Formats: sequence, structure tokens, C-alpha cells
Amino acid sequence: MICGTYGHPRSFWEQGLRLDDYGVNAVFIHGASLDAATVARAREEGCRVFAEFATLNGQYGDYVADHPEAHPIDDQGAPVAPATWFLGACPTDPGFRQFRLQALRELLAAVPDVDGVWMDYLHWHAQFEDPYPIFVKTCFNDCCLAAFQTWSACVLPEGSVAERSKWIFMNVARQWEDWRVSVLVDWAREIHQIVKAHNPKALVGNYQVAWKDEDLGGVRRRCLGLDIAAMASWVDVFSPMIYHGRSGKTPQYVSDYVDYFGARFAIGREGSPRLWPIVQAHDEPRIEPGEFARVLEYGLGGRSSGVMMFTLDSVVRDAGKLAAMRRVYRHARATAGD
Ligand SMILES: [Zn+2]
Repeated sequence: MICGTYGHPRSFWEQGLRLDDYGVNAVFIHGASLDAATVARAREEGCRVFAEFATLNGQYGDYVADHPEAHPIDDQGAPVAPATWFLGACPTDPGFRQFRLQALRELLAAVPDVDGVWMDYLHWHAQFEDPYPIFVKTCFNDCCLAAFQTWSACVLPEGSVAERSKWIFMNVARQWEDWRVSVLVDWAREIHQIVKAHNPKALVGNYQVAWKDEDLGGVRRRCLGLDIAAMASWVDVFSPMIYHGRSGKTPQYVSDYVDYFGARFAIGREGSPRLWPIVQAHDEPRIEPGEFARVLEYGLGGRSSGVMMFTLDSVVRDAGKLAAMRRVYRHARATAGD
């Protein structure tokens, strides 16, 4: 039973609080802000420590700004507009892949005893965390068009990007979608291999959009390129981002989605991945403490074996949420005999 927090516990510690006193037994911290002292203190307070790893966000580390060849290209041949805080780098750009996987190796070297790595932003360029999502069809730069032709054995007609993308959508759309899935699965495979080579016991997790297969015409797979079943071989724990307030849903949706995910992906069966959702504490829009307590409890329900919230800072800023987290986590741990 994972009673987790997301975000560096700095502000929590500055209040003079201890993680174990609040029932917390796992912290998820952005890899760039993790250091040995943070790991040691969290461990001393009874926590496992997991590193978030921003995988395909080209804005992170300014990679795309410095390497325009990795800027994803849309179906008209133009560089895509960045979404609010996300620009999905071209996932087949060889320089970007080398750069990002080197960053993973450096993270593991900096905090060698980390308990696992959580992939984040592992999807093709889109924005699903805003109340009104942005969907774009990418990427049509030379390396993606070449990779698709090699993978599918399709021979694209000569012409402009606009002509070639139109031909793909009219003739081989399903193969193109399958290829896009395969690109992401291959990223997950290599990240999984690097982490397990470093420490076979370390877990590999994935943060992803909390949409069902059929939502919005199957857009999670068809646009984001995210196929949960296809990724399951390389992911120990799935952490859907069930931000009910931000996506205009009720707290009950957290419970519904946990039930859906558990049944759909055989969570809890031998050899199946685990489910530790991340729920919303952040006040965009306002989340009342009672509502926060409910989504934490729902996140631990069904076949889930853990939960965390976005973000710990949002909890620290609100005495009611702090009390709710302490109550729910201590109760969950006591019930689990932990
Ligand atoms: Zn590309």
C-alpha cells in the first residue's frame, strides 16, 4: 500500500513536519531536484523514493530550443506550436533520444539507490492537462517519415509534407497509428532496460492521461500514441493522472476510472502491472479538503495498491488538506496492517 506524495517535500519539512507522522511511505520527486540528502531524509522518515523523469518534453532542458531539428513537424510541414508547458520533441530524432537517455543514466548515477523512475510526458505532442485539450497530428519531419516507411514497408508518394500526410491519412492511417504506438513502446523498453540494468529491484512507472480506450473516439491511442496494453511489458506501475477538477469531472470519476483501469488491464493478477493513480490536490479549480480526502480514498480503492497527489505543496498550503492526508493515510496504513 503506497501512500505517496508528488513534489519535493521541502515546504512540508519547512513546517517542521515528518512524512511518517502523516502516514506517507513514498515520495515522488522530479529527478532534477533529487539529491542524496533528500533521499536520506525521506528514507529516515520511512519513505521509498521515486524519481519523475520528463521523457519527451522538449521544453525540459531546452533541448528543442537548442536543436530545432527536434521540433515536431505538423501535417502541413510547419513546426507545431508549443502547448502551455509542453512541447513534445520529435521522438525519433536520434540526437534527442541520445540526450534524454544520457540524462536518465546521469540521474541514476546521482541517486544510485533510488527506488524507481516514473516516466512522464511519454506521448506524442498534445496537451491533455488543460481543461480544453489540444490535439495535433505529428510528426512529419524527415526522420519520422523515414522511420514510418521502414517500419510499415509503405512507400510514400513523392511530394510536399501536406501531400504525403494526406496520403497517409487516406490510405494507411491505422498503420501510421500503430507505428506511433511502437515508437513510444520502444522508448519505454529502453528506459526499462536501463533502470533494471542499474538495479533489477527498481520500479519503472508511467504517468499518463486518465482516458479510457474509447474516450473521444480513441484519441489516447490515435493521437497521443499511448497504448496501455502495448506498454505493459515495460511498466511495473501505471499512474494515471486523474485530475477530476481540472478535467471538469466529479470526485466520483476517480473511483470510476480506478475500477475501469483495474478491470481493463487485469491489475493485481500475477505478472500484471500495478496501479497507483495520482489525484488532484492543486487548487485549479478550488479543491475542498473533504473533496481531496475523497479522491485520495477513491485512488486507493478497487485494485489500486497506492495513490499520490498533485502536489504536496498544494497540501502544505492548506491546513484542511494536510489534516485530510494525515487522516486518510494513517487509516489506510492501519487497515493494511502496515
Ligand atoms: Zn519526427
